[in-house]
Amino acid sequence: MDSSIIGKIEKARQYAEEKDRVNITSFTAKFQGNHNQYDVRLEEGAWRCDCHFFATRDVCSHTMALQRILDEMLTGDPEPVSIS
Ligand SMILES: [Zn+2]
Repeated sequence: MDSSIIGKIEKARQYAEEKDRVNITSFTAKFQGNHNQYDVRLEEGAWRCDCHFFATRDVCSHTMALQRILDEMLTGDPEPVSIS
């Protein structure tokens, strides 16, 4: 392995410890619930989930779980309800 790659790996290791450097602005995820799999998305800071609960409440256990998992890497504060 050449030395420039070794330097990058070391830098990546440091960056990975500094999560506030990263702001996730959008992504898609397959979420395996207890009964079904759901498509969860974050687009421009807005959550979407194709489960029935989300359709009526604009929030659900899947979006809240992902908010917890991603926490400080999310841009701004897309959290629609308090989950603490
Ligand atoms: Zn959902």
